[in-house]
Amino acid sequence: MRDDVTLSAPGGALRARGAVLLISTYELGRQPLSLASPLALLERAGFSPAAIDLAVQRLDPEAVGRARLVAISVPMHTALRLGAKAVERIGSINPACRICLYGLYATLNAEELLRRGADFIIGGEQEEPLLRLAEDLDRGGTGRAVDGVGASAPAAPSLRKVVFAVPRRAALPPLEAYARLEHAGVTRLAGQTEASRGCLHFCRHCPIPPVYAGRFFVVPRDVVLADVRQQAAAGATHITFGDPDFLNGPGHSLAIVRAMHAEFPSLTFDFTAKIEHILKRRELLPDLARLGCLFIVSAVESIDDRVLAILDKGHTRGDVEAVIDLTRRAGITLRPSLVPFTPWTSLGGYRDLLEFVERRGLIDHLDPVQLVIRLLLPPGSLLLRRPEMREHLGPFDPARFTYAWRHPDARMDRLQQDLSALVGKAAHEGEDPRLTFDRIAARAGASRLQAPIHRRIVHDKGRPPRLTEPWFC
Ligand code: SF4
Repeated sequence: MRDDVTLSAPGGALRARGAVLLISTYELGRQPLSLASPLALLERAGFSPAAIDLAVQRLDPEAVGRARLVAISVPMHTALRLGAKAVERIGSINPACRICLYGLYATLNAEELLRRGADFIIGGEQEEPLLRLAEDLDRGGTGRAVDGVGASAPAAPSLRKVVFAVPRRAALPPLEAYARLEHAGVTRLAGQTEASRGCLHFCRHCPIPPVYAGRFFVVPRDVVLADVRQQAAAGATHITFGDPDFLNGPGHSLAIVRAMHAEFPSLTFDFTAKIEHILKRRELLPDLARLGCLFIVSAVESIDDRVLAILDKGHTRGDVEAVIDLTRRAGITLRPSLVPFTPWTSLGGYRDLLEFVERRGLIDHLDPVQLVIRLLLPPGSLLLRRPEMREHLGPFDPARFTYAWRHPDARMDRLQQDLSALVGKAAHEGEDPRLTFDRIAARAGASRLQAPIHRRIVHDKGRPPRLTEPWFC
């Protein structure tokens, strides 16, 4: 955080073209909605913001030099780490501009980010606090008294419903620059939108509950559909619904995909939903498939019931088995996300997971990175207070924005490091994920996996649908 006197903007200065600069560092390989949404509100209020997506563009020093307020979106951990680096670079290029970080991981790491040179932090429903901040600075204010904006100290996340505007995508790189859908041997342009934000649930490892505290907000149907429409016009033939859980409001979500299908019958889509919701709404699956749903991402995390109970996931291994069967019957691919390395997962448990993946025919449903994810403990994590965590927990590591923890069996920490290196190299070399799976199994000593590689190699056409960006965190 820096001195107010040197940083206050003269009245009216922020409405100049490019005086507000929005930056995204990473949004899962998608065209960043976290820029498109505030861009719309700022433009509607008479600002002329610029935008840079560092995932596909370079940090233009001229654009940074013109900016009076730079707002960096950090919706996930990878984005946070890149965003913290961007703060340093922006500060050295233009020491006079004010820097705001916004998004889920900005709230969780507010203290550390303020210490590292951020002037403002915004979390939760972020667009309106960001707009009010720009307006306050534009009037010559300091931004310190703006509701929902943390300055000298972190502020509570804003949980007031935003008056949504249709996201502005014109200033962003085209969809061609982003991850695509791979399906039936064909690669297609993909877009993303969201029908809701926040979540009703309290899974203990998830970064959403510490910010949203069980609240969720729907995005108006006409706004969602207008966003789909503009992406279809830009060439998208598949839409990802990036909601934390698309089935938190099933009536709202279903109405949207019905309307979408009526207008664009060949448009396909995917969404994320928890196992518990898929089970509870099983009767919707055939309808969702008919409307164009190709796959559902679900945070399975583990198939060990003890681990699932500690994480308070609301499902069991048996439930996962049932959802695999239900989605298969409906013709929808289930793409599980996993957290296979936790303090409570034994080597035997890890091998069991690999065997489960093979036995249930899920090798092609997983990007190999899912098999090396290690539990992340950001500030505010609900797990920090759990008695099961206490004996494993280390200090906060500000360089990595996470609390350290150690596995009681040192072999597991070594295995995770080795497998991360193995998966990183394989992804870099474009290795067949099945081959990577076999390497993982061999390193983990999962000797009951015997299927030879050649029997599992199939033509790309036979692979389940996926997006070409394998990372997710
Ligand atoms: S893991 Fe999914 S269901 Fe659980 S709190 Fe997070 S978003 Fe909600």
